[in-house]
Amino acid sequence: MRHNRILVWFRNDLRITDNETLIKAIQSGNEVVPVYCFDPRMWSKTDLGYCKTGAFRTKFLIESVDALRKSFRELGADLIVLQGMPEIKLVQLAEEMEAKGIFFSKEVTSEERNVEKSLETNAFAKGIATESFWQSTLYHIDDLPFPVSQTPEVFTHFRKAVEKMVKIRPAWSTPKRLNFPSDLDSSRLGELPSLHTYGLEEPDRIAKSWLEIEGGEQAASGRLQSFFWEKDLLKVYKETRNGLIGMDYSSKFSPWLAVGCISPRSIYEEVKRYEKERKKNDSTYWLIFELVWRDYFRFIAKKHGDKIFQIQGIKNQEDSWSRDKPQFEAWAEGRTGVPFVDANMRELNATGFMSNRGRQIVASFLVNDLGIDWTWGASYFESKLIDYDVCSNWGNWMYVGGVGNDPRENRYFNILRQAKNYDRNGDYVRMMIPELQAIKGFDIHQPWDLSTSKLKSLKIQLGHTYPHALRNMPTLEKAY
Ligand SMILES: Cc1cc2nc3c(=O)[nH]c(=O)nc-3n(C[C@H](O)[C@H](O)[C@H](O)COP(=O)(O)OP(=O)(O)OC[C@H]3O[C@@H](n4cnc5c(N)ncnc54)[C@H](O)[C@@H]3O)c2cc1C
Repeated sequence: MRHNRILVWFRNDLRITDNETLIKAIQSGNEVVPVYCFDPRMWSKTDLGYCKTGAFRTKFLIESVDALRKSFRELGADLIVLQGMPEIKLVQLAEEMEAKGIFFSKEVTSEERNVEKSLETNAFAKGIATESFWQSTLYHIDDLPFPVSQTPEVFTHFRKAVEKMVKIRPAWSTPKRLNFPSDLDSSRLGELPSLHTYGLEEPDRIAKSWLEIEGGEQAASGRLQSFFWEKDLLKVYKETRNGLIGMDYSSKFSPWLAVGCISPRSIYEEVKRYEKERKKNDSTYWLIFELVWRDYFRFIAKKHGDKIFQIQGIKNQEDSWSRDKPQFEAWAEGRTGVPFVDANMRELNATGFMSNRGRQIVASFLVNDLGIDWTWGASYFESKLIDYDVCSNWGNWMYVGGVGNDPRENRYFNILRQAKNYDRNGDYVRMMIPELQAIKGFDIHQPWDLSTSKLKSLKIQLGHTYPHALRNMPTLEKAY
């Protein structure tokens, strides 16, 4: 006989606040068993030979699952941790525990959807019901003023339509208690994996890492509390968001949003409270504007399916990309000889994070200056980013690669112009590229313009202590 018991399968919704899947399971009046399953396919190798999920994201994910388990323990419940393929492991567990249903959050991209579909099929074969919920966006998919298949190809059209016609649903409240089975054998609970489980090393904590980020729902709300209320930074976000150095030029919500430690709706509600209690201005709106971009890439991914991963993109552009491996590796390792690009790539490799400005610059350099396959760049980011989000990453890369939703024909970033605007004194590059540290001011961005004797006096030898530039960069004068 089946028990009145529901498994709640946590995916990229690692929180108990504003979690409809969890609330619906609790409201069903059944016993609720929260489960997370570490899927080994997340640590397989990409075509380029990188681990799909690198050390920073793995560490962050393990911390987030651990924090979720603690939240459930505070409610007198627990979280079962499994390792293996969810479509097999979850159904096996449901059968063994005689659960009558499995609830989970919907994903949009094919790998995740395939797992969902197999789980539904396997569960159905065993007479176990499944129910799934849309969770990840600010605007609920069912509230869109058009079918998702008609999502506008231009962001502004999408944004204006949803802003005008859609009301953001209120966040779900935090559960106070949970009807957790009292007879659960503790041997079932399962251990968290470690980085070594996936052949990864603990990332070094380096001095130049300003990323104070730990996984989990509490840490996410701590960051919100600090960024909005204690440091009062929301009111200047629009002016600071293009920064490069430090924790506070932007919200740094992205790692928590990516695994769902915080929901965009909870952030939205807190922005509204801030606007009422402190200040309402362009900056407070702009944070919401950026969250709408996040939604947009998710709906575009749902609309276009696997096209977002394909070289032709959603514009069906012809494939005329270079696949020069040594040049690609120089880019990936921060050895292109173009300091602003290298500095950003070194930050990514050393910390798992890069500013939005940096991401646009290095992506533009890879696709526009080197002409290299944009999917290689996207795939490298997938492996390295602590905040990797399948839709935001591939959507943004398509955009920069000119095969996505950008109405502009040519989105070329002149690197020196970017450097002049965003790192005028070269401080960021100086921090990331110690071998160029001795060059003062803006000159650090164009070491090729310094005389050999000047470089010699600074103990720099291009081609030896720092590489020659892979490409001649357009001069500042030619920049727009
Ligand atoms: C090539 C490229 C790849 C990217 N890959 C990712 C990725 O894998 N994961 C990811 O979360 N973001 C990605 N972004 C978007 C953006 O760079 C990051 O969201 C942002 O830098 C994260 O820092 P933050 O949380 O401090 O952002 P804030 O400036 O504080 O913005 C707040 C939130 O808005 C959302 N947001 C901001 N900008 C964008 C954007 N351009 N697209 C989608 N959402 C946005 C994010 O959820 C972010 O956390 C990418 C951008 C580029 C150009």
